[in-house]
Amino acid sequence: MNCLSVNDQILRPNDILTTAELATGESRASATPMMEQYIEIKAANPDSLLFYRMGDFYELFFQDAADASRALGITLTKRGQHLGQDIPMCGVPVHAADDYLQRLIALGFRVAVCEQVEDPAEAKKRGSKSVVRRDVVRLVTPGTLTEEKLLSPSDSNYLMALSRIRGGGEPAMALAWVDISTGVFRLSETAPQRLLADIMRVEPRELILPDTLFHDPEFRPVLDVIGRVAVPQPAVLFDSATAESRIARFYDVRTLDGFGTFSRAEMSAASAAIAYVEKTQIAERPPLGLPERESSASTLFIDPATRANLELVRTLSGEKGGTLLKAIDRTVTGGGARLLAERLMSPLTDPAAINRRLDSISALIGLPAYAAELRDHLKRLPDMPRAIARLALGRGGPRDLGAILEGLRVARAIASFAAGKAFDGELAEARTAIDALPQPLLDTLSAQLADELPLLKRDGGFVREGADAELDEMRALRDQSRRVIAGLQLQYAEETGVRSLKIKHNNVLGYFIEVSAGNAAALTEGDTAKARFIHRQTMAGAMRFTTTVLSELETKIANAADRALAIELAVFDRLTAKVVCDAEPLKAAARALAVLDVTAGLAALAEEQAYCRPVVDSSTMFEIVGGRHPVVEQALRRQGGGAFVANSCDLSPRDGGAFGAIWLLTGPNMGGKSTFLRQNALIAILAQMGAYVPADEVHLGVVDRLFSRVGASDDLARGRSTFMVEMVETAAILNQATERSLVILDEIGRGTATFDGLSIAWAAVEHLHEANRCRGLFATHFHELTVLSEKLARLSNATMRVKEWDGDVIFLHEVGPGAADRSYGIQVARLAGLPASVVARARDVLAKLEDADRKNPASQLIDDLPLFQVAVRREEAKGRQGASRVEEALKALNPDDMTPRDALEALYALKKQLGNA
Ligand code: ATP
Repeated sequence: MNCLSVNDQILRPNDILTTAELATGESRASATPMMEQYIEIKAANPDSLLFYRMGDFYELFFQDAADASRALGITLTKRGQHLGQDIPMCGVPVHAADDYLQRLIALGFRVAVCEQVEDPAEAKKRGSKSVVRRDVVRLVTPGTLTEEKLLSPSDSNYLMALSRIRGGGEPAMALAWVDISTGVFRLSETAPQRLLADIMRVEPRELILPDTLFHDPEFRPVLDVIGRVAVPQPAVLFDSATAESRIARFYDVRTLDGFGTFSRAEMSAASAAIAYVEKTQIAERPPLGLPERESSASTLFIDPATRANLELVRTLSGEKGGTLLKAIDRTVTGGGARLLAERLMSPLTDPAAINRRLDSISALIGLPAYAAELRDHLKRLPDMPRAIARLALGRGGPRDLGAILEGLRVARAIASFAAGKAFDGELAEARTAIDALPQPLLDTLSAQLADELPLLKRDGGFVREGADAELDEMRALRDQSRRVIAGLQLQYAEETGVRSLKIKHNNVLGYFIEVSAGNAAALTEGDTAKARFIHRQTMAGAMRFTTTVLSELETKIANAADRALAIELAVFDRLTAKVVCDAEPLKAAARALAVLDVTAGLAALAEEQAYCRPVVDSSTMFEIVGGRHPVVEQALRRQGGGAFVANSCDLSPRDGGAFGAIWLLTGPNMGGKSTFLRQNALIAILAQMGAYVPADEVHLGVVDRLFSRVGASDDLARGRSTFMVEMVETAAILNQATERSLVILDEIGRGTATFDGLSIAWAAVEHLHEANRCRGLFATHFHELTVLSEKLARLSNATMRVKEWDGDVIFLHEVGPGAADRSYGIQVARLAGLPASVVARARDVLAKLEDADRKNPASQLIDDLPLFQVAVRREEAKGRQGASRVEEALKALNPDDMTPRDALEALYALKKQLGNA
């Protein structure tokens, strides 16, 4: 049983009072004043762990304490009783709270941070028993983090809002996503069939949606995939009627006319995101940029299965190593790494926009010395957007101001060494943003900030000497008094003859004189000594004293130190206000520096790995000469294995036709089919994100949708077997691929009986060729399919070459025209260590099966089966007959004469007729 131990007692979870039980009248009436306050705050935040501030600790009580102690592995104790039961309690020190928060957030908890919001002295004035006023100052949730420790520098941290507007025609849906740690705010319309893909493209840490939608069965499949990232919120947060005024209020403008045009669904999503940010940040307002609208047509649609299969930013097992992102990331700043990941997740579809990015890389490749120096400067660039966000939210420290100063210095250095270079496109834009940086801010920060900066502002010492006359005076007084104390120690030691006498300091006593017990007589005996040394404390082996002079000095030091800190804090607030006031140009420059970092990183990658610039246009070409797999190539090199064998791929339209081609790829197991399939998809993604590609030459007509089914996986949690998952994914591809799409299919139909599988694969190839008419690669071990190339004009056969040597197979990893006649599965099985007896028996069985097959070859099928279109036309004709009867019935209806009940019945009848057709 799941038991918790409070001291020596055993406390079962059901012994702990729930939040609802705590909030009852009886409970409140018998609570101590402090507990009453706790209960009230907890009742308002039932879904979060409540971090209740008490002195230097955040304390948790009741079920929160039990949950947190288990999650964090910290001791569960108790603090008094309530309603006759022990109150479980645990606590975390305030100074280490970020570490604990990080762990709790990672485990899926949300935390309400409750602070003392008045000076305890004020509370005392209301009576000795009165409780210090406390309030929740912030809700810490995964999508609204800003602390350096809680964030990864190379990952964006998005909160996403999903809205659905019904009424009128089709329901409309929209997504809004914000990163409060950088101020990025984007918006896009979406639709049920692309919703999951649109969510996965952004990978939000938290997705809020109206509770009605959360509980809608139609939305269940999406929830199953995104899991606990989804957080239901009251529908009122998404109210589209008040959306405009909420957004306007947040940005402090009277109308949104200057923001561009947004649909009602987009307004609702944007306003919900803002409302949630306000709800979690309470009194603080993060510096969000204006919402930027993204049209879904401007990005390459990659469905979630493809995204996962291609391991773009995460491997199938969830790691970052071994991904495309890892292989191409040469950025040197956090902002650059985030932008690179974003570009990789959302490749473009507009050739002009893609070529703009490629032009910038070409320009930097043409200036290698400049690019190298640029990257050297960028290495020093701190994370400015995140520092700005923390400062604006009142969570900043001196090092955040230092980050802005250093950022401004790096930007200036880059601007001055770039002077005289003629750039255009993205590089020119970046320079304009950097040139627009506020010079006075740099001057002020460098005049005021010290060289070494403490983490916390309350530690002081971050204002430069000479920046504030009064501060210098207070510091001198404080330091001088410290010197006087050092002199005093010498003087007392001489006068008392106790050479080991020391003046020390601690937080309880302040300054005191300490002598060993053996020497204490020198300070306690004799009238002069008695009059001067005042006893404070007796320790084991030591005695502590003070003197009037020492106390006076101490007061002086304390006053001077207090005043000095107050001055520093005022300077901090002034500097913070200046930074926040200049947030827009600072963020624009940070974005420009991120663009430079991404561009210089991709240029460096292109040189280091010998990538080429792809030709990208609006044709339907797909010609890759000497293509390589970016991840496998680097892995082979690292492991010191053989070189990666480059392979070409040409799916371009033939003989002046408009539609691209399909390659049917056969070849042995382990021959390199999957690698080849994936590399072509990855090259298309790289080209469309505006990067150079691992190939000798590439000509790509932009792809609108990319589908890839490679590798088998099951999804047992959702009740889907491996084969079912394969079919669901294949269905999505056949239903959605267009003439501009690229489809990569690996071993369709393998998880079922041979003839079922072969038939499905056969029909799928025909459908791709005849109905989708997309560019495609189809790898298979069903060698029977290769006969299809005789009938399907744009289908060609390609095979992975092997050499046979002494009964063994040698993989050449070369793709060439033609079809394989066998898969060498038994040879591969032998290499894998299958027992020799099994291998020998398999060879026997194979020989028998092949003999039977020769007598009844599948190639006859091609003559026996009508082509796909003929079969489809037959199906369509059947459908039309059904539809026409339904049409007749529909025409006969007169809605004006019908009651709602009649209408419903008519609808049932129509459905039935359609079903019978
Ligand atoms: P199976 O049919 O058994 O799934 P496959 O034909 O899909 O096999 P891959 O998984 O693509 O084969 O490749 C097998 C191994 O061969 C890879 O792990 C890779 O290391 C190596 N390989 C593949 N292609 C190349 C290449 N072009 N150059 C060098 N090595 C390669």
